Order: sequence, then structure tokens, then C-alpha cells
Amino acid sequence: MPSETSVVDGVGKELFIGGKWTPASSGQTFEVRDPATGEVLCRVADAAPADGAAALDAAVAAQDSWASHPPRERGEILHRAYEELTSRVDELALLMTLEMGKPLAESRGEIAYAAEFFRWFSEEAVRIDGGYATAPNGTGRFLVTRQPVGPSLLVTPWNFPMAMGTRKIGPAIAAGCTSVIKPAAQTPLSMLALAQILADAGLPDGVLNVVTTTDAGGVMEPLIRDGRARKLSFTGSTAVGRRLLEQCADKVLRTSMELGGNAPFVVFADADLDAAVDGAMQAKMRNIGEACTAANRFYVQREVADEFASRMAERMAAQPIGRGTEDGVVVGPLIDDAALTKVTELVSDATERGARLLTGGSGVDGPGHFYRPTVLADVPAEARMSSEEIFGPVAPISTFDTEDEAVRVANDTEYGLVSYLYTSDLKRALRVAERLEAGMVGLNQGIVSNPAAPFGGVKQSGLGREGGRVGIDEFLETKYIAVAM
Ligand code: NAP
Repeated sequence: MPSETSVVDGVGKELFIGGKWTPASSGQTFEVRDPATGEVLCRVADAAPADGAAALDAAVAAQDSWASHPPRERGEILHRAYEELTSRVDELALLMTLEMGKPLAESRGEIAYAAEFFRWFSEEAVRIDGGYATAPNGTGRFLVTRQPVGPSLLVTPWNFPMAMGTRKIGPAIAAGCTSVIKPAAQTPLSMLALAQILADAGLPDGVLNVVTTTDAGGVMEPLIRDGRARKLSFTGSTAVGRRLLEQCADKVLRTSMELGGNAPFVVFADADLDAAVDGAMQAKMRNIGEACTAANRFYVQREVADEFASRMAERMAAQPIGRGTEDGVVVGPLIDDAALTKVTELVSDATERGARLLTGGSGVDGPGHFYRPTVLADVPAEARMSSEEIFGPVAPISTFDTEDEAVRVANDTEYGLVSYLYTSDLKRALRVAERLEAGMVGLNQGIVSNPAAPFGGVKQSGLGREGGRVGIDEFLETKYIAVAM
């Protein structure tokens, strides 16, 4: 196992622009901290707007030659990077755990998941197809081809520091788009490591540029309004996504928006309860509850609600808490003090409104931002956590009586990313899955993410899909050539 110091030391701390590591023009740097200890891990370059402009210049300069690069070679670069990610999983997982806090086993899982996006899109690079057809009146021909959108701006959050990047970079590279990526300020190290991996895999200079900054808005807004970038792909909160959509309207950028969630987890009395509790633990506790796909509201049919709640409380109370680097830990720290405060407030609000605390319900003293796995029963619809993302290890349980009621409460949210559904009745499963307002449904399973499947939401959870056959479409424009005969 590599040492903590060596994995942090091994990463470039400057901006990656035009294939070169470059200090911020101001000379400024910012701290990256370990959320488990609060200690500073290192400092990285703090880009100013001028550095963002230099990164976009590099992406624009590389666009034409990258678009004409053979698709097979684009795919082979991605495949080499996939192999490198896979072979360096331990070192990259440790780096991720240090900057983000999730337990090592989960970080390993994320590196494997992140790498799979490169494998998937290495295969898709050579399958960008078109069409040839006879016009309905028989006199002309239609040629349809698909071309790269052009230079793209990518913005990613801190909760999945590697996978949210590869899910955008993979299809961008495969489609022939150059890009500027801005990772979250709290977790820049994984992306900086990835930049070097792609460069070593043969990615030409300027195809991917990485800009780290504490001034996200100040650096990104001029790039969005510049007009040369033709696409923004954003993963993050709905509040920021809305603002970026407004900025994109100015130059009519193509957008992909992977935004917040408020996933319902619906358990019918006919469900396999063992499987439902296992699935609930996965859907709730993956990533310490800090996932857009995290089950945020549990709705359990009255006949089995007490049994489900007591089993959940027992499982949640037994989850070992600690620094993610320690053996056996499954609940790491929340990302920062603001996250801990929010979770604490949401739980107080729910109990003040009548929810019953079955386990947990408090933070952990000491350094880091730890919160005990918590289960609440009888959570009323007016509780803030029924409509806001908890982003922590808290499972609020409510009951329902009928199928119609389950669908109504599940859909009673502005979000629509994913819904989970447990039942052993096939007809009910399909009926309810069709009625759930969500881009994805976990049917008798607590994890939906898969690089080969289309990931994305409806309503205010976003626009577009990442992964799957359609993932590359987000970085392609369709061109129709009318041919006279
Ligand atoms: P966030 O505050 O919206 O930040 C996301 C990214 O946007 C970060 O890189 C952030 O930079 C940047 N950003 C913030 N303000 C910006 C601005 N004015 N202009 C340009 N960029 C800006 O979200 P977060 O707290 O990091 O992530 C959690 C959210 O992401 C949750 O709502 C979660 O549900 C969502 N999420 C969605 C998906 C999905 O696939 N649907 C996946 C993962 C997460 P800084 O780091 O510098 O603030």
C-alpha cells in the first residue's frame, strides 16, 4: 500500500493547460484538506479568470486536429487510460479517500466505476454512425453525419471526484471534443492525477485542460459567455445548475445538467424484506449518504413498516464510523462543517415536527465532520428533509397504505433523478415503475449506476444522459447534407 504522503506528493499541483503544468498567473494557491482530520493535505494552484481564458484558448486551438483524429486512436487513448486507472486503483483510491473522506473500499469502487466509463467510451468512439436515405419524393438523397459539438466546458462536484469527471471526459474524448474541466475546489487532486494519466496515455496537448480555482463563478462565467465553447456539461446542485443554464442561454450553448435528487425508496408489503433492507442500506449509505442517487425518503407499506424500521435501525447502529483510511470503517466524515450543520438541522427539524428517533441523531466530537447513522420513523411530509437533499447518513421513514398513495408521495418533489421500488408483484412493479417521475428506477435493487446505462434525471434533476449508448450523443451534433441527384 502506498503511503499517504507519497500519493499526495505524486500529483501535479498546478493548472494543466495545453499539455503543460502551469502555475496560476497570480501565483496564488489554495489548501486542500482531509475532511476526517481537518488537516491540510497540500496546496494547489488557484486559477484566476485569465487562467481560465488560457485553458479555453488551448482547447479551441486543439479542437480541429482532435476532431479529425482517427476515432480508433481516440478510443485507444481512452483504453490505455482505463488500464492505468485499473492498475493504480490502490494509490488513486487512497488519494480520493484523503481528499473526500469516503472509506477506502468505496474509493476503490469509484476508481473502478470511473475507469469503466473510459472502457465504455473507448468502444463507442468507433461506433459514431450516420445515415443515407432517399428523399420521400425520390429525387434527392439525405446524408446524415454526426460531428463533435466542439470545445466543451465541464464542471464536476466533490462527492465523486473521479467518476463524475470520467463520465464527461470519456464521451468528450471519444466524440472528438476538446475540453476545459473545473473540478470542485474541495477535491481537485483526483482530477489532477487523471490529467497526467491521460497525458501519459497519449492524449495530445490541449485536448483536456484542468483548471482548479476557489473562484468557480468568476472563472467559469466568462468562459460560458465567451462563445467559443459550444457545450457545458455540469454535475452539481440544482441551484447552481439553474444559474449556469441562464448563462448558457446568452450564446445558446448545448447543455447537459446532472443535478440534485430527492430519491424515494418505496417498499410494498409483498416485497422480500431482507432484500429491501439490503437495498435500502446501499441506496442510503453509499458515499456516506452524499450521493445524488441517495435514498432521501423511505415510504413503507403500513403492514411491514415497523419491521422495516427496526431492521434498518439495527443495521445503521452497527455501521463503524471513522477515518476512511482505517480498516473496517464504512461511515467516513461529511465533506465539511456546513454539511454537518445542515444534517444536524434537518434531523432537529424532523424531530421537532414529530418524527421518532430510532437510532443516531447526533454528530461525533473531535476533528472531522462525522454524523452518526440515523433512522427516523413517522417523518411528516412537512419536515424539511422530505423536500431537501439530506446528503448524509440519515434515513427518514414514513408509511403509506395504497399503491396510489405511494406513487403520489414518491412523485411529490421538484426532483426526478432516481426512485427505488421493492415489490415481488411483477405487474405492480412495472405499473409503478412507469408512473414514477424519475429518469431512473431501481427495481428491487439499491444501486442503479452503470457506465453502460443512461444516467440522468427528469424535472429539476437535470437535462440529458451520461453513460450508455446515448452518453456520446451529448457531445455530438447531427448534420444533414441534402444531396441533389
Ligand atoms: P455545487 O455547489 O453545485 O458545485 C458543483 C460544482 O460547481 C463545483 O465544481 C463548484 O465549484 C461549481 N460551481 C459552484 N458555483 C459555480 C458557479 N457559479 N459557476 C460555475 N461553477 C460553479 O454542488 P456540490 O455541493 O459540489 O455537489 C453536490 C450536488 O451535486 C448535490 O446536489 C448532488 O445531488 C449533485 N450531484 C448530482 C449528480 C448527478 O449525476 N445528477 C451527481 C453527483 C452530484 P466549487 O467546488 O469551487 O464550489
